[in-house]
Amino acid sequence: MTKLILNFNSKQSKSIKNPKNFLGGKGANLSEMGRMGLPVPPGFTISTKVCEIFYKDKKKLNNNLISQIKKELKIIEKDVSKKFGDLKNPLLLSVRSGARVSMPGMMDTILNLGLNDKTVNALALKTSNGRFAKDSYRRFIQMYGNVVMGVESYHFEELIENYKLTKGVLLDTDLDENDWNGLIEDFKRIVKEKTKKEFPQDVFQQLFGAISAVFLSWESNRAKVYRKLNKIPAEWGTAVNVQSMVFGNMGDDCATGVVFTRNPSDGSNEIYGEYLINAQGEDVVAGTRTPQYITKKARKNAKVEEPSMEESLPKVFNELKKILKKLEKHYKDMQDVEFTVENNKLWMLQTRSGKRTAKSAVKIAVDMVKEKLISKKEAVLRIDPNSLDTLLHPTLDENSTINVIANGLPASPGAASGKVVFTSEEAERLTSMMQDAILVRVETSPEDIQGMHAAKGILTARGGMTSHAAVVARGMGRPCVSGSSEIDISYEMKTFKTSSMEIKEGDVITIDGSTGRIIAGRVSTVKPEISGDFSKLMSWADSFRKLKVRTNSETPKDTKTAKDFGAEGIGLCRTEHMFFDEERIFSVREMILSKTKEDRALALEKLLPHQRKDFIDIFKIMSGLPVTVRLLDPPLHEFLPRTNKEINEVANIVNLPVKEVESRIEELHEQNPMLGHRGCRLGISFPEIYEMQCRAIFEALAELKKNNIKSAFPEIMIPLVSTEAEIRIMKDLVIRTANQVQKENKLKIKFIVGTMIELPRAAIKAKEIAKHAEFFSFGTNDLTQTTFGISRDDSGKFLNDYLDHKIFSVDPFVSIDDGVSDLVQLAVERGRNQNKKIKLGICGEHGGDPNSILFCAKVGLNYVSCSPYRVPIARLAAAQSQLNIRNKI
Ligand code: ADP
Ligand code: MG
Ligand code: MG
Repeated sequence: MTKLILNFNSKQSKSIKNPKNFLGGKGANLSEMGRMGLPVPPGFTISTKVCEIFYKDKKKLNNNLISQIKKELKIIEKDVSKKFGDLKNPLLLSVRSGARVSMPGMMDTILNLGLNDKTVNALALKTSNGRFAKDSYRRFIQMYGNVVMGVESYHFEELIENYKLTKGVLLDTDLDENDWNGLIEDFKRIVKEKTKKEFPQDVFQQLFGAISAVFLSWESNRAKVYRKLNKIPAEWGTAVNVQSMVFGNMGDDCATGVVFTRNPSDGSNEIYGEYLINAQGEDVVAGTRTPQYITKKARKNAKVEEPSMEESLPKVFNELKKILKKLEKHYKDMQDVEFTVENNKLWMLQTRSGKRTAKSAVKIAVDMVKEKLISKKEAVLRIDPNSLDTLLHPTLDENSTINVIANGLPASPGAASGKVVFTSEEAERLTSMMQDAILVRVETSPEDIQGMHAAKGILTARGGMTSHAAVVARGMGRPCVSGSSEIDISYEMKTFKTSSMEIKEGDVITIDGSTGRIIAGRVSTVKPEISGDFSKLMSWADSFRKLKVRTNSETPKDTKTAKDFGAEGIGLCRTEHMFFDEERIFSVREMILSKTKEDRALALEKLLPHQRKDFIDIFKIMSGLPVTVRLLDPPLHEFLPRTNKEINEVANIVNLPVKEVESRIEELHEQNPMLGHRGCRLGISFPEIYEMQCRAIFEALAELKKNNIKSAFPEIMIPLVSTEAEIRIMKDLVIRTANQVQKENKLKIKFIVGTMIELPRAAIKAKEIAKHAEFFSFGTNDLTQTTFGISRDDSGKFLNDYLDHKIFSVDPFVSIDDGVSDLVQLAVERGRNQNKKIKLGICGEHGGDPNSILFCAKVGLNYVSCSPYRVPIARLAAAQSQLNIRNKI
C-alpha cells in the first residue's frame, strides 16, 4: 500500500512517478536533496492526497492520519535526539505548505512550532541562550497567531515598534531576553483579545492546527484568485511539510539566506543572493533589516560596507558554493535556494528552478549547452516563446522615476514616450517634424492607420486585447495600451483626465505596452539587444523545425524588420493598407465614387503606378522568397471620407456636387459590412479593380526581370472565397491579366494562384476549391468570426463572461479554438485529397501564437505567418512543436 505521509528519506518517494504531484514541489525537492546527500533537516511530507481526504472528512484530520503523523514524528525525534513538547530537550518544527507549483496566496510557513510557556524555558536552558529561546517563542506566537488564529500581523509589529521607541533602539537585534519576555506576554494578550481564545499550550494542538491551516489555505480567496489567473486546477491540492527546525537566530555564527545559482536578471554564471546574520525565516525578504550580499564581488559592485557571506562566514560560503554546483548539475537548471546556518553548520531548506528574465533565460540555456549540462534540444524547449516578446521591444528603464497616472490593458509590448495627440493628422504632423507622438483615441478605426504608424505609441480608452488598436499596433510593432477605462478623453478640449491629473495635447507621457502602465513625463527606455546568444538559440530552433515562418507585412519597413527577424517570405500582404497612403487615398475614393466603368478605369490607372512601386520594393526585399499578395478585401466604404471637411475635399477633387458624394456614401453603407460586399465579391462586381492589382504585381515582376534583379515569388491570393465558381472566375481573371502583361513585355512570369480559407463553406468545400487553387491560406481571424458567428470587435462585451463561465478556456481570437481547428483539419484533408501538392499556411493572428502553432505543425501545414515582431517567437514555437510531436506530448 502506498503511504500517504512520507519521510524525506523514505524509499518510496524515490519510486514515485511524478513526485511533485504527490509531494508538492517543495517536498519532492527536499527529499531529492536528502537523497543527494545534502544536509537537509529531517522531516516528512503529508501528501496532496491527504488534502483531498481532509476536505472529504469535513475539513478534519481523521484518527488514522493523526496516528500516522505521530509515527513519522517519532522518526524525526530519533534522528535529532530531541522530543516534541519535552521539558528538557524540546524538538521544534516548521510547518510548510507546498503545492505542485509555488503558489503565492497559500499559507505562510510557521516556524518554531512546539514552543510554549514551559518548553521555551527548557530550550533556553539547553542552549544556554535565553535570548534566542525567547526570540523564537515570540516569532512563533506572531506566526501562529496570524496564520492559524487570524490575528492581523500589524498588531504584533506595532507592539514591537512601540517597545523599541520607548527603549530607544532601532533594531530587533537590539532587544534582549527580558524585552522579549515582556513582549511575549503582550503578544499572548493580543491573541486573547482578538480571538477570545488562549494561545494554545498543547504542542499537538499546535501541530494539527498548523497542518489544518495549510489545507484550509488551499481554499482561501487569495489562493483561488491565483489559481484562476494561472489556470491551476483546484483538484491538485497542497502538500504539507513538517520539518525539524534549524536555527539561524542563535548568534553571530548563524545566518539565513536565499541564493540563485546564477544571476537571474542577466544570466551570468555567478551565484547571486542575500543573507542576514543572526536571523530566521523571512527576515531576509521582510525588509526590517537590510540584507547583505552573498559574494564579495556583488558587495563591491553595490559599493556597500557590510561584509558579504563570503567574507563573514568563509568556510560555510565555500561549502554552499559546492552544493550549488552540485544542485545545478543534478537539476540541470538554475536553482533558487534557501538555506540556514546554525552555529557554522549549513542546512539546505529549499531548492527549485529559479524565475528569470527572458534575457537571462536565453543566456543560461545557451551557456548550459556550452557547459554540456543540457542538449540543444533541451535548450530550445526550455524557453517560453512568448517571453521573447520582451527581448524584441524597447522596455522602460526601471531605474528611473516612474509616475503612473493610470492603467490599461497591455495590448502591444514595448514602451514609448512622446507628446500627446488626439488625431492621426496631428500624429503625422509631429512625426514629420521629427517629434515623437503618442496617439490617444477613444478607439481607433482603419482611418487611423497612418496616424498609428506615425505615432510612437497608441493609447485607447476603449477596446480589448483584440480591438482594432491592439491588433494593428501588434502588427506594426507599436507599443499600445488599450481599453484604459481610467482615462477620460475630451476631443473637444484636447485633454484627457485621470483620477489624479489632467493631460493636455502636447504634454509628454509614456506608455508601457508590456504592463499597461500610463506614465506622466518621459521615461528613458532600454533598446532591445538581439545578442549572440539569442541568435544562437534561434539557429538551433531553426534546425529542429519543419514549419516555415513567414510574416504579415505590406510596407518595405515592416518587411525589412521581419526579414531581419528571420521571416522566410510574406504570408499575407494586405493590398488595402497600401490604399490608405495620403497620396493615393484620393484616387481610391475617386475610383469608389465613379459611376461608370470608364471613370473607374481612369481612377485605377492613377493607382496602378503606386501599387507597382509597392510591389517592386517588397519583391526586392523578399528576393528569392515567396510573397502572398491578397487582392482587395475590405468593404469599399472603409475608404470613404467621414468628416464634412473630407467630404468637401473629395467632392472637389472628383468634381461632383457634395450632395452626390453624400448620397453615394449612403448607398455604400452596409448593415453588416463583415458579411457584406467585400473580398472576392468585389472582384466579381468590379473585375477592373482586381485586374489593376494583378497588373501591378506582374508589371513589377517584369520590371525586376528586365533589370536582372532577383524577385520574390508571388502567390496571388483571392480573399473570402466560399464557392468553387468564385475561385474559378477569379483565377481566370488573374491568368488573363498575366497573359496580357507577358505579351506586352515579351517575357515569362511565374506565379501561383490560391485562396484564403476563411469561411466555413470554403473549408467544407475544400476539395472542389482545390481544383483551382494552388495554395490555401487559413485566415483564422475571419474563420473564427464566421464559425462562431461572433464579431471580433464586439466580442469584448461578453468575452470575460464566457471566460468566467468556462465556456471559453481562452480567447478564441488569441489561441485557435478546437472547433475552428477541426474545420482547418477538414480543409487540409479534403484539399490535399484533391491536390497532393497544395501549399498550406495560416495567416490569421493565430500564426504567431505558440499553442496554435503546435496545432499547425500537427496538422502538417507548410508555414505559419505572423506579424514581424512575432517572427522569432513563431520560429521557436515551431521548433518546440516539432520536438514535442516527436516526443509525443
Ligand atoms: P516559502 O514557500 O514562502 O518560501 P518556506 O516553507 O520555504 O516558505 O519557508 C520560508 C522560510 O522559513 C525558509 O526560507 C526558511 O528561512 C524558514 N524555514 C523553513 N523551514 C525551516 C526549518 N526547518 N528550519 C529553519 N528555518 C526554516
Ligand atoms: Mg521557501
Ligand atoms: Mg479575412
